[in-house]
Amino acid sequence: MSVISKKDFNEKIFNNIENLIENKKLIESGEYVALALSGGKDSILTLHALTKYQEKIDFDLIAISVDEGIDGYRSHGIISARNNAKKLGVTLIEKSFKEVYDFNLDDIYFNFKSACIPCGVFRRNILNKTAYDEGVDKIATGHNLDDEIQSFLMSFARGDVLKFSKFGPKLDIIHPKLIPRIKPLWNTLEKDVGKWAILNDIDVHLEECPYSNLSLRAKIKEFLNINEDKHPGLKKNIMESFNKILTFDSQIPTKLNNCERCSEPTSSNICKACEMVDLISKDN
Ligand code: SF4
Repeated sequence: MSVISKKDFNEKIFNNIENLIENKKLIESGEYVALALSGGKDSILTLHALTKYQEKIDFDLIAISVDEGIDGYRSHGIISARNNAKKLGVTLIEKSFKEVYDFNLDDIYFNFKSACIPCGVFRRNILNKTAYDEGVDKIATGHNLDDEIQSFLMSFARGDVLKFSKFGPKLDIIHPKLIPRIKPLWNTLEKDVGKWAILNDIDVHLEECPYSNLSLRAKIKEFLNINEDKHPGLKKNIMESFNKILTFDSQIPTKLNNCERCSEPTSSNICKACEMVDLISKDN
């Protein structure tokens, strides 16, 4: 078995990210990009890759961290986010569920089937509003290849084809208040992200969220990891298959409305965040 040196590994992982950014035109010269920075290995690699990419083309970068209010967990990630942003000279905007909604995830998660449901909805809302207020052109996230196929299989399993429109390295503008997303790690395997962090002794938050093992995503992740070991290449094959499906089906509806309560973009009349705030105030 050939052993790749740290230098060659770093070159390979950053070249792969830069090629994706270039080939799919994720970032163009003069744009203003906000990175969703949790402090986990994926968002920290994205931060390093984007600051490195700034040596190639001229664009502005800020980072946004959202503290969901998960006791003993997220605060460690925020520290890694601060340290890396400071080291690389990137401005970090910090937001929290408490500040915006006046509750922590720990206070309200039991209203839902899984803590990940309100966590994702409120985090995406805060990120989008903050990025919109900042006037950025795009939000970059640390979603890697594993995350992408997990999300695809989750939507597939739930019959939620509307979500298929969220796949791919670059999401188009479908509403003037919804900042388009880009995923620079879209074709990078999670195990390579972990290897990069360890090889380079990067300050990242490696703990698992206490709620993660209860989610459907965790079960799909476990299934994929077990079967990738038995059948190497399985994850990339799934990714290729879903790329083919999405190429064939470009008719997935993507039109959004304005929420009747808060006027944020939504596929219904009332956005998921407002629906959840109603449900939480009814039950508390
Ligand atoms: Fe939120 Fe679920 Fe991720 Fe924990 S695992 S941070 S609850 S989305």
